[in-house]
Amino acid sequence: MNDKNKQILIVGGGTFGLSTAYHLAKSGYTSVSVLERSSFIPAEESPGNDVNKIIRAEYEDPRYAQLALEAIDEWTNNPLFAPYYHQVGCPLCNSLAALDKAKRTLAKSLSSISKHPACAGKIAPINSREDTRKTYARDDEPDPRTNLLNLCPSGAGITNFNMEGVSLPPGSSPYIPPHDEEASRRILRETLRALAEPPLVHKKMCWVADTDDSDYLIACVPGTEGLIVASGDSGHRFKMLTMVGGWIRRVVEDGQQVEARWRWKPGRGRSRDNVSWRVGELYDLGEEKTRSRL
Ligand SMILES: Cc1cc2nc3c(=O)[nH]c(=O)nc-3n(C[C@H](O)[C@H](O)[C@H](O)COP(=O)(O)OP(=O)(O)OC[C@H]3O[C@@H](n4cnc5c(N)ncnc54)[C@H](O)[C@@H]3O)c2cc1C
Repeated sequence: MNDKNKQILIVGGGTFGLSTAYHLAKSGYTSVSVLERSSFIPAEESPGNDVNKIIRAEYEDPRYAQLALEAIDEWTNNPLFAPYYHQVGCPLCNSLAALDKAKRTLAKSLSSISKHPACAGKIAPINSREDTRKTYARDDEPDPRTNLLNLCPSGAGITNFNMEGVSLPPGSSPYIPPHDEEASRRILRETLRALAEPPLVHKKMCWVADTDDSDYLIACVPGTEGLIVASGDSGHRFKMLTMVGGWIRRVVEDGQQVEARWRWKPGRGRSRDNVSWRVGELYDLGEEKTRSRL
């Protein structure tokens, strides 16, 4: 029997933390506190605090595709989330110059989601400008308050190892690696040519808690009692905001993670070869800065 009066402390009031507080409160827990570093919620630094987000189900892994569809159902039908959810469509495309790994991943994702009955009749090829207009209505549109457009050249990732061998966020800095700036301009030259040459402003690095295999980590910490780590979002968990707190609540109640892929596991090194949607070279920030000064 679960004690709904037990005290629960959530550290971090971002996507995972707030979803957990919501799911715990919804199922009757009476003593849930959220500790947030920022003086307001949502915190400026949380990527969950954004103008828009991609809510997509086209995972190549059918398990995540199914979870995303369940999350989308909640976005659509739960009156708490529905006012913030606008289903507008989203283009899936590769540059002709994309690496084969990126092209293979896109093809696998499309194949996986095309077979799902929930998507029947909802996926269409883009053959003309008119098709583009229909599907590309609001995905990553500019912020109406500033007219700024977000652009992210997603790659294999960057680490920032300290002397103890722990990779930590580098803090806020306008530095972005020169080749990422060049990749951003290349994307613009291929898609929105008028924006390719003007200066890039508000440059910053997105710090994503990637796991080796891109699976989430929602697990009891071995050797401790009552400590659960919910992290390893791997850059794809905002869409699960509606659900993730429920998965964390189950671990609180069961005292273990039943979903094997989300259990505590040792890291397997720095390679991203086993994550199909992370394409390119993984490198360390310290090495990168040294290289760009040479
Ligand atoms: C640029 C970018 C774009 C993304 N786009 C998408 C997308 O389109 N679709 C999608 O599904 N996912 C997307 N993601 C991923 C998604 O945003 C993350 O998976 C999700 O926000 C992670 O949630 P979180 O709770 O782990 O972290 P966060 O949302 O960052 O929350 C962490 C919270 O902890 C607080 N905190 C940190 N340290 C402390 C401390 N010591 N004490 C107390 N509080 C602390 C922070 O202030 C913050 O509020 C994107 C991520 C990035 C970076």
